Amino acid sequence: MRRACVASDGMGKKSLGFVGLGIMGNHMAANLVKAGFDVTVWNRSPDKCAAVAGQGAKVAPSARAVAEASDITFAMLSDPEAVLGVVEGPDGVAAGLSRGKGYVDCSTVDEGTSRKVAELVHAAGALFLEGPVSGSKKPAEDGLLIFLCAGDRELYDDPSVVQALEAMGKARFYHGDTGAGARMKLVINAIMGTMMGAFCEGIALAEKSDLDTAELLEVLSLGVMANPMFSLKGKAIVDDTYPPAFPLKHQQKDLRLALELARDQGIALPITGAANAQYVKAMSDMGQGDADFSAIAKAVRGGDKKK
Ligand code: NAP
Repeated sequence: MRRACVASDGMGKKSLGFVGLGIMGNHMAANLVKAGFDVTVWNRSPDKCAAVAGQGAKVAPSARAVAEASDITFAMLSDPEAVLGVVEGPDGVAAGLSRGKGYVDCSTVDEGTSRKVAELVHAAGALFLEGPVSGSKKPAEDGLLIFLCAGDRELYDDPSVVQALEAMGKARFYHGDTGAGARMKLVINAIMGTMMGAFCEGIALAEKSDLDTAELLEVLSLGVMANPMFSLKGKAIVDDTYPPAFPLKHQQKDLRLALELARDQGIALPITGAANAQYVKAMSDMGQGDADFSAIAKAVRGGDKKK
């Protein structure tokens, strides 16, 4: 069955919805407003709608109401449970979708969750695209995210989706059928989570070995291991401060899902597994779930940095 998306405002720019206004969603929705889209938003905790409402977005009473008011609805939610919870049920997104509409889920989830969402969206007659992102709070704010899309190609090619992704990001990929974007995102975050673990272990070893950590960071910045993440996070880790850009609980969720993907594919990832154990320790034993993921340093050091 062909499900066509139709332009609704006579000028070719469709109305957009956004559900999930956390660290990432708030900035992403704001960039859609700035790009001139008519945007309707909803968030479980209503207070988080205030910033983007102040910039011109309309606030709806439920996820369903967002989908009813919008041609294309975007989502940026924490984890598989939230993603399914927001789509299902009488007040969920799927209840507000119909033929001619589209749903783009940018949350980081596993392939199975994404496929369930696709089924619910298709059952309502609408199109589905998964579009998890590479990039954190600052790229979200600056409209410099990288979208890892998969699902209905027709929605990916829709001119309003193209404009929306360009307003929120600097690059977009179409990886194939639903699930390919989710898998790509988990691979990337498995690499990132282990890199951060190794970085924090190196800093802790330098501290214990009576080395100057500022010099360590400078040496790293001049060689082949130089990268924006080390440059951005290094000084804060040395200072033992972790203001959240990417919450540690989400990094641990991504490692858990990447390890499940690896198990399904029959490949062992012992380094990823070891990093995951440190994130679990930082989250469960040390209460660092809402801190930035670089707070894995607390698990590596075994507590706060000794002054
Ligand atoms: P966040 O600040 O924790 O925001 C999570 C959002 O999900 C909030 O809007 C929250 O609503 C909502 N939510 C959670 N559980 C819900 C439920 N049961 N029902 C309805 N809404 C629910 O997270 P974030 O950093 O923006 O990340 C969002 C997604 O992007 C995650 O999948 C994360 O892995 C991914 N991601 C994050 C980054 C980053 O650097 N932060 C980068 C790339 C990808 P409330 O406000 O009511 O809690």
